[in-house]
Amino acid sequence: MIKKIVILGGGSAGWLTAGLIAAECQAVEVVLVESPEVSTIGVGEGTWPTMRNTLNKIGISETEFIRDCSASFKQGSKFIGWTTGRGDDVYHHPFTLPSSGTECNLVAAWRNYCPNVPFSEAVSFQSRISDLGLAPKNIAMAEYAGALNYGYHLDADRLGVLLSDHCQRKLGVTVIRDHVTQVNSAENGDVESLMTKNSGIVQGDLFIDCSGGRSLLIGQHYGIKLIDQSKYSVNDRVLAARVPYGSERPDIASMTMATAMSAGWIWDIGLSTRRGVGYVYSSAYIDDEAAENELREYLKKGASHSNVDEIELRQLRIAAGYREKMWVNNCVAIGMSAGFIEPLEASALALVELSAKMITNEMPMTRKTMEIVAQRFNRTFRYRWEKVVEFLKLHYVLSSRSDTQYWIDARSPESIPDGLNDLLELWRYRAPSSYDFQSVEEVFPSASYQYVLYGMGFRANETFGKKSDRVEVGIEAIKRNFELVGKFSERLPKNFDLIEKIRVHGLQKI
Ligand SMILES: Cc1cc2nc3c(=O)[nH]c(=O)nc-3n(C[C@H](O)[C@H](O)[C@H](O)COP(=O)(O)OP(=O)(O)OC[C@H]3O[C@@H](n4cnc5c(N)ncnc54)[C@H](O)[C@@H]3O)c2cc1C
Repeated sequence: MIKKIVILGGGSAGWLTAGLIAAECQAVEVVLVESPEVSTIGVGEGTWPTMRNTLNKIGISETEFIRDCSASFKQGSKFIGWTTGRGDDVYHHPFTLPSSGTECNLVAAWRNYCPNVPFSEAVSFQSRISDLGLAPKNIAMAEYAGALNYGYHLDADRLGVLLSDHCQRKLGVTVIRDHVTQVNSAENGDVESLMTKNSGIVQGDLFIDCSGGRSLLIGQHYGIKLIDQSKYSVNDRVLAARVPYGSERPDIASMTMATAMSAGWIWDIGLSTRRGVGYVYSSAYIDDEAAENELREYLKKGASHSNVDEIELRQLRIAAGYREKMWVNNCVAIGMSAGFIEPLEASALALVELSAKMITNEMPMTRKTMEIVAQRFNRTFRYRWEKVVEFLKLHYVLSSRSDTQYWIDARSPESIPDGLNDLLELWRYRAPSSYDFQSVEEVFPSASYQYVLYGMGFRANETFGKKSDRVEVGIEAIKRNFELVGKFSERLPKNFDLIEKIRVHGLQKI
């Protein structure tokens, strides 16, 4: 039986995994080793709604989380300038799924009833609510409950501190702050133990590699190759900034703003105490100096801070790819050690949550059954990474921008994964549907593809008129949506006001 799990790495991946396993599998001992010499990546500020369930399971109160992690609510992403680059070029990918989405063909209803209204606005009232600066819930609602679906914007460093403290005090996780210098193997090729600089040998039954981009166990020890995805995802550099708010009360947006630039895009995230902003770009199309200038120009436009030129920028290099296998012998990789694709749509932490969930669901496992679990894990996550690559690429292939070579090349046929090409071919005649995504817990549902496709003005030769389209049902749902904007805008507070209230009074415990 698996009695002791050793997690190598104390970044967001390590601590979320430790928390989920320790909370769910009380019979298993969890030890986490983190190096005082290697810092965590310190970015990763946008989450999916899944984080609510994760934090709740780990036993962290939402009030405590919002206070400690400078967190704010995230209701989805807003894409600016991706389609034409003109002033009116904006679309939303909200978290709340379209209402009545499974009962009828909402795309058919939208095309029939209000084709000139943005698709997301017709089928979900969340984009309007967030544009009005409103929160997805109010102070009277219980922790983790919402009127609309939501995730968070958070300070990654503070999340690490909160999780570490909670896991040790409340969940009995043992932490060893030491640098791992060697990996010791058993005769069957399993990892037997880790050698540390000052704390001796750490033995375990299952080892989880959360060592970040170094991928010490899966990559370095087992030599599992990274399947390079740079052909599909060309951005390889990041300039990240922490931008203080000015003296005025900030209007905290509850969507991640993703603005297209000449050779990439800028994320802009509003936390309760500052903004997190970063330019993700391709060094093949722009040099670092020009990228810095573009980023500083962007910051000046939305200037919440007068001394933009003094804001410190941190440069990171990123490489798109994921491991051929994530689980080998008694070792499984989670987080950056398993792979990374640019942070558009912020799927990395969601994959961490899904990985830890699958491990906890399979527990208690024995060494004998581990091979079966490993095969299933590898199959599942290989599929999930493929889907992430395809979905992110969708945001580029639909662009008609021709102002720079970056945008022209972004839709070149050889840069489009085969799976996505097939889907695009199908969608020329019908809308994305659940038939296209049939795995349990798909990373992105068909509704997400619809939000991006129609948000970016994808024109199709759909032939509607099937009985199953139930266009009338869809039109009623759209009308209801329009009404709900009015209703909810009366009941929901401003995003900033709610965060302040929670910081002072707290939310109701569940
Ligand atoms: C620019 C950027 C933006 C991102 N934005 C988002 C986002 O909005 N949403 C999202 O979901 N994700 C995002 N991500 C991804 C997200 O940041 C990561 O998936 C997440 O932080 C998990 O990182 P990690 O824990 O795997 O690695 P790290 O944070 O790098 O942690 C690695 C750990 O391993 C330890 N370690 C390394 N070597 C040793 C050793 N020899 N001995 C002991 N310990 C060791 C380190 O001390 C550290 O504790 C972003 C990533 C980047 C690069």
